[in-house]
Amino acid sequence: MKKLHTLKHYFGYDAFRPLQEEVIDAILSQEDVLMILPTGGGKSLCYQLPTLMMEGVTVVISPLLALMHDQVVALRANGIAAAMLSSMQDHKESREIEAQLLAGEIRLLYVAPERLNNEWFLTFLHRLPINFFVVDEAHCVSEWGHEFREDYRKLSRLKEAFPTTPVAAFTATATTAVEQDIAEQLHLGEPKRVRGSLFRDNLQIQAQHRIKDGRAQLLTFLKQHTGEAGIIYTLSRKSTETLAAYLRERGVEARAYHAGLSTEAKNTTYADFVADRVQVVVATIAFGMGIDKSNIRFVVHMSLPKTIENYYQEIGRAGRDGLAAETLLLFGAQDIVRQRNFIEELPDTPYRDHALAKLDAMARFAGGEQCRHQAIAAYFDDAIEPCGTACDNCTTPASEKIDITDAARKLLSAIWRTGQRFGLQYVVDVLRGSRDQRILENRHDALSVYGIGEEYSRAQWLTIGDRLLELGAVTIGEYKVYTLTPVGAEILKGTQTVALKKERLTVRKSTPKKPKIDLEGYDADLFETLRTLRMEIATANNIPPYVVFSDKTLKEMAVTRPKNRNEMLQISGVGEVKFERYGEEFLACIGDL
Ligand code: ADP
Ligand code: ZN
Repeated sequence: MKKLHTLKHYFGYDAFRPLQEEVIDAILSQEDVLMILPTGGGKSLCYQLPTLMMEGVTVVISPLLALMHDQVVALRANGIAAAMLSSMQDHKESREIEAQLLAGEIRLLYVAPERLNNEWFLTFLHRLPINFFVVDEAHCVSEWGHEFREDYRKLSRLKEAFPTTPVAAFTATATTAVEQDIAEQLHLGEPKRVRGSLFRDNLQIQAQHRIKDGRAQLLTFLKQHTGEAGIIYTLSRKSTETLAAYLRERGVEARAYHAGLSTEAKNTTYADFVADRVQVVVATIAFGMGIDKSNIRFVVHMSLPKTIENYYQEIGRAGRDGLAAETLLLFGAQDIVRQRNFIEELPDTPYRDHALAKLDAMARFAGGEQCRHQAIAAYFDDAIEPCGTACDNCTTPASEKIDITDAARKLLSAIWRTGQRFGLQYVVDVLRGSRDQRILENRHDALSVYGIGEEYSRAQWLTIGDRLLELGAVTIGEYKVYTLTPVGAEILKGTQTVALKKERLTVRKSTPKKPKIDLEGYDADLFETLRTLRMEIATANNIPPYVVFSDKTLKEMAVTRPKNRNEMLQISGVGEVKFERYGEEFLACIGDL
C-alpha cells in the first residue's frame, strides 16, 4: 500500500480519483503515457506521486512560466523538493539549481519547452538520472489543436535525444484526431492511453442570448456570487477596462487584465486574484491559462468564444476544488458575424477553413437546446448521458417553440426588395411603416413590404433578424448591410420553415436559480474564521491561500470540527507535512470557538 501511504503523507488525500491510479501504475512500470482528463481532474498528481516513489529526477515541460511557478510553490508547501529553470531566474540562481540537481537534491524540475533546443542544456540533462519526462498541456504540439506552439513542435526531438526515457503527456482537451497527433509528434511508442470523461458535474453551465450589452444579465448573475472569485471574459482590451470600471462603481471589486498592460500591472493583478485580494478579473483570453487557483466560483463570457476548445478550457478554470461553480455565456448573432469576418480575412489556407468550422460548432453550441455537458462531450468524441441537473437546457423545461416562418419571410423579402443595401434597423423600419426621412427619400414607402410588419415590436423584429443570422439565412457585410444567403432564399421560397424559442420574443426577467451542490450544514462563521487564519498564514509565508488549504478542506474542518492531530489528519487535503506546518494553528482556532 505504498502508493496510498505516499498519497496521504504528501497530499493528504485518502483515495485516488478515477483513472489516476491507472496512469500512476503505467509510469511506475516505465511505460509512455497519454492522458486526457478535464481541468481539475487531478492530472498533476498522476506524475508527482510516482516521482516520489522512484529514484532520480522528473523533468516537466510546461508552456507557461506562471503555471510552473505556481506548481513549484504548491509542491514545496507539501514538502516536495521542486524547482524550475526559466528566464525568471538569474545566472546565479540557475547555477545553484543545477548544482542541486547534480547532487540529487531535486525530485521535480520544471522547464520551458524552448530549453530543449539548447544543446548545452540537453548535454546537462544527460548528466542527470532522469526517470521520466512529462509534457504538460500536450495539445500544444498539435497543429489541429487550438493552441499550437512552435516551440512545442520541437519536442519531437525528445525521443531522439532520450530514446529510452519514458514520456508522459497530459492535456485537458483533445479530440481523437488531436490525441493521435500528440502520440505521433512526440513519437510515443504504444503509449498507455487514458481518457477521462469530460463531464464536470460541479459546473453549472448556462448560455443566454445577450440583451443589449448584457450588463443587466451580468449584474443579476453576480448577485448570486457576492464575495466569490470569478473571471469575466470580454473580447477587446478596451472593454475589459470599461466593464471593470462599471462593476467597481456598483461595488464589485473588479480589475481589468489584458496583454496591453505592463508586466508589473499584470503580475500584480494575477497575484492579487490568486491571493483573494481582488474578487473579479475582467479579462481578454490573455488571462488564466494554466491558472492554478482552485476556488474560482464563476466564469462569464460576455461574447462568443472562437472555439469550443477555448470555451471549455476557460469555463474549466472554475470549480477545480470540486465544489459548485457556475458559468454563464452571453452571446448574440453579431458575435458570430464579427468572428467570421475576422477569420475570412485570413489567408486562404486549410487553417482558415478549420477555424470557420470550429466557429460554427461554437455557434451551434450556444444556440443549441441539447444538454450542454453532453454537447461538449460529443464535440470531443465522448458520449455521455444528459446531465439532468447541471445545465440550463436540462433544468429549464423544454421551451415552447413558435413557428415564425411568415415573419422570417417578410423580413427576408424586405431585405431583398430594398436592394440588399441596408442595415437591419432600416429594414425593420420599412416593415413597420416608419415615416423616417431616409425611407421616404428612397421611396421605400411605395414597396409592397412597407408597413406589413406591425404585429411585432421593433425589438422583436431585431430578434427575428438575429435568428436568421444564427441559421445562416443572412450575412452582414460592410456597413452592416444585410444580404440573403442560399439558405435565406430557400426560406423565402417557402421550402424551409423557421422556429424560435417562445421566450425570446418576450423579455426575460432573471436567470434560472442554481441548484446547490455543497458540503451541507457547515458552520459558516467557523468557515469565515478559518479563512481569515488561512489568509494570515498565506500572507506571512507569501504563498496563495489555497496552497495552505483549499476551500473544500476548510469547509470539511467547519463540518467535522477536528479536536486533535488524528482527527485533523482524517480531513481530505491535510497531509502530514501540512499538518506539521499549519495543523496546530487550525486546531487551536477550531477549539477556541
Ligand atoms: P488538473 O491539472 O487536472 O487540472 P489538478 O492536478 O490541479 O488538476 O487537481 C485539481 C485539484 O484536485 C487539486 O486541488 C488537487 O490537489 C486535487 N486532487 C488531485 N487528486 C486528488 C485526490 N486523489 N483526492 C482529492 N483531491 C485531489
Ligand atoms: Zn444538461
